[in-house]
Amino acid sequence: MIKKNTNLTNISIVWLKKDLRIHDHEPFFEAQKLDIPILPLYVFEPEYWKQPYSSIRQWKFIEQTLVELNQKLTNKDQPLVFKCGNILKVLTDFSNHFNIIHIFAHEETGTMWTYKRDQQVIDWCKKNNIQYHAYPYNGVIRYLKTRDHWQKIRTKRLHSSTIPEIVNFKIPLKMKSDSFPTHEYFNHNITDAEQTYLKGGHTYAQKILLNFLSQDYRYYLKYRSKPPSNHQSTSRMSPYLTYGLLSVKEIYRLIQEKLNESYSNKFVEHSLSAFESRLMWRCHFIQKLEDQPNIEIESMHPSFNGFNQTFNKDYFDAWKVGLTGFPLIDASMRYLLKFGWINFRMRAMLSSFAAYNLQINWQVFGNYLAQLFIDFEPGIHFSQIQMQSGVTGINAIRIYNPIKQASEHDPDGVFVKKHVPELSNIPKEWILEPWKMPKEIQKKCNFVPGIDYPYPIVDFQTSSKQAKEIISHFRKKAGFKETSKKVYKKLGSRKKNNKTKTVNKNQIELNFS
Ligand SMILES: Cc1cc2nc3c(=O)[nH]c(=O)nc-3n(C[C@H](O)[C@H](O)[C@H](O)COP(=O)(O)OP(=O)(O)OC[C@H]3O[C@@H](n4cnc5c(N)ncnc54)[C@H](O)[C@@H]3O)c2cc1C
Repeated sequence: MIKKNTNLTNISIVWLKKDLRIHDHEPFFEAQKLDIPILPLYVFEPEYWKQPYSSIRQWKFIEQTLVELNQKLTNKDQPLVFKCGNILKVLTDFSNHFNIIHIFAHEETGTMWTYKRDQQVIDWCKKNNIQYHAYPYNGVIRYLKTRDHWQKIRTKRLHSSTIPEIVNFKIPLKMKSDSFPTHEYFNHNITDAEQTYLKGGHTYAQKILLNFLSQDYRYYLKYRSKPPSNHQSTSRMSPYLTYGLLSVKEIYRLIQEKLNESYSNKFVEHSLSAFESRLMWRCHFIQKLEDQPNIEIESMHPSFNGFNQTFNKDYFDAWKVGLTGFPLIDASMRYLLKFGWINFRMRAMLSSFAAYNLQINWQVFGNYLAQLFIDFEPGIHFSQIQMQSGVTGINAIRIYNPIKQASEHDPDGVFVKKHVPELSNIPKEWILEPWKMPKEIQKKCNFVPGIDYPYPIVDFQTSSKQAKEIISHFRKKAGFKETSKKVYKKLGSRKKNNKTKTVNKNQIELNFS
């Protein structure tokens, strides 16, 4: 137990984690109501950055954000304090300089590692008579009893007004910050991403959002599933939301303002309502992890534990670097490796291909994708990975056909040629299946399949059929349906879908009912 020293200054700490902003920030807002100085703290925890889902590209985004945040705080006469080390050690060390009276933070729905870490901090505070205040985040509800009323509570919460920015810090506190960490702290298998589109910092976040709401939303309905191109067809808000540079509430407010000024324009309404519903999904998926934290490591439907255990390293290695012989899969993977972001459809296709066609265990490829995503958000990520791998027991099974996806979304191979340069000379008639190109055309474009670019590592139809058989086998296990009902009750969406269901011709949808 730390000793209180009456000669030291009493302070509150605002512990920043995935809420890197000073506006619409309840912990700052509540802390400033008290008459004691506030120390804004961010701790880089080396152990977290060794976890299998974390990577240097995520950190670089945070680092850029902290630089700008520090500038903002310095303008308010209280620089950010940055520390590197175990959080309990950092807090214990602070106790030699200050009397910590309160710690303010947001609740975090993260991985098991962050959950345990938060629990340790709460226990440490209790032991040392420090008041720990945790505030809800987004639309996620802690200790939710039933999913039935979740939507209502969440909507009410997110439509309430935003919280004003902290005004000042009264008495500035001096505490030396550590330097930012170097490369040795990170898993070495993943490189930094090119920051062409996604740069850290609140200024950049706002710029992208305003650009989307004033112009790019026009592409949302038609182009959001197409491979990324020069114009931005989705908001690219994901990393800014993951690290809390912007709050969902403030985005809702801006959507509302845009709707008000567009005088019932149906196109604007449809586009923005599609965007708004994605923000709802965001909370829906994070709530799943909040309600069942073990979905990070266990299948939502327990019958699928033990699914896809035969691991083919050659397949995994080829998929990881974009050398599967399926042009759209490879272009998407290489784009992701380069930029650290890709749209929903391509993520779903990459996952479905890994899970069904290559039979790679979802935990294995899920962690790899998490490392590649700058926007890694555990609740969305693990739920989606499980959905796209068919192990939830409550969602339709969709196997994305990468050749058909390409024929619909990139028929001329513009995206493929840009990101798989080996295919840049292939005539567009052959870009979907270059291995089928006749010999004389191969000669003309100086391309030899199997040498310049791999043959497909699996046959799509055969591997899909096999996947279907394996899943059928798991679904026939005793008690499968009863357990599915329980999973639905706990984690399923209650949103009524009255529309006639249309099956996309680019996916194989398996009907097990
Ligand atoms: C296998 C897989 C893994 C994924 N992992 C992540 C992840 O780690 N982090 C992450 O933020 N998203 C993840 N997603 C969801 C989605 O692909 C991204 O949120 C989206 O592509 C981000 O681009 P955007 O911000 O331009 O999206 P927009 O279409 O502009 O949507 C706006 C916001 O809504 C939320 N959102 C959009 N789509 C979804 C969705 N399907 N489910 C939940 N929330 C959604 C995101 O916060 C997004 O920023 C994953 C999807 C799949 C299929």
